[in-house]
Amino acid sequence: MADLIRTIKQTVRDLRPYSLAANHAVVKLNQNENPWGVPEAIRTETFRRLEKCSWSRYPGFLPTQLHRRLAAFTGWDPEGITAGNGSNELIQALMMVAIERGKRVLISEPTFALYRQIATILGGEVISVPLTDQLTYNVNLLRTQMESSSPDLTILCSPNNPTGCLVTESELASLLEVSRGLIVIDEAYHEFSEQSLKSLLSRNPNLVILRTFSKAMAMAGLRVGYLLAAPELVSEIRKGLLPYNLNVISQTAAEVALDLYDEQVKPLVKRLIEERERLYDQLRSIPGLKPVPSRANFILVSSTIPPRRVFTELLDRGILIRDVSSYPMLSNHFRVSVGRPEENDALLFALNEICKREAVNQ
Ligand code: PMP
Repeated sequence: MADLIRTIKQTVRDLRPYSLAANHAVVKLNQNENPWGVPEAIRTETFRRLEKCSWSRYPGFLPTQLHRRLAAFTGWDPEGITAGNGSNELIQALMMVAIERGKRVLISEPTFALYRQIATILGGEVISVPLTDQLTYNVNLLRTQMESSSPDLTILCSPNNPTGCLVTESELASLLEVSRGLIVIDEAYHEFSEQSLKSLLSRNPNLVILRTFSKAMAMAGLRVGYLLAAPELVSEIRKGLLPYNLNVISQTAAEVALDLYDEQVKPLVKRLIEERERLYDQLRSIPGLKPVPSRANFILVSSTIPPRRVFTELLDRGILIRDVSSYPMLSNHFRVSVGRPEENDALLFALNEICKREAVNQ
């Protein structure tokens, strides 16, 4: 067995797997999903269109029809768009074609764990700049690091998972000024921030924007993401994708979601933003908890009670949250997704109970 394991790269053997324990609860607030699910009108129209689809034939080599719809939706060139099996696949494809031993990847932690994971597997050197004490991006430090180590690829998440902080347009512009490599902005949660950095694409051929249908669009189970960049870059990134990467069912559902976005999805996003603000205010009033301002559909919370205990006590009450205390800088933190109003009420009630009891016991 020991010999067998030696066939695996040392960098991989040293990594902890990126995975999530399979806990189940009635109130699921651990993966930043859309708590209302796919609107009925989108489901019905998807099933109607699927009646006409051939399941026995391969889909197109690339999902060109979806690319055309995404082009109309985003106002970007279809040749500068590529859809993937979740945005995870696109992060992997992009890194696969750009990163090898000797290449440097700049990230800012704490952030989405997959960036470091994939860059490391590919032999890249990961350079990490911490967020500020307020858990916001430290743009000056990022700029300095870009100037001194000239990373081949920088990947930042806006709004950032798990903190909810943003990269603003002027901050990105100032990073683009000094970057000689690619800058990737992961906008998985952009709908909830009501801002996008997409407008900088046309002037910056080294900028890549990643998006997903897993969050606002309520399609995490269908695995659809997309990437926007200069067409020359996209044709290289596509070499890192498997042929037929997007199945016909997911392609169809994604097209319908785009067609019905304004009518069906936008109102849900608006309600989630309102719920986020309400949840934030209420969390602030619970002794021992301090929520971090967020522009996403989740809130990071600093807690005087150890996060693992908060996690377990909530799970005992049927509420599943994310313990992020193993992330850098977040040893006292947990993360909650914004749920439906009644789910948020259940969370607040339980947290109040847990924190009050703790205060009495001290
Ligand atoms: N980026 C970020 C920041 C995420 O939080 C996630 C999922 N948690 C993803 C990308 C991946 O999303 P998907 O593969 O479902 O599109």
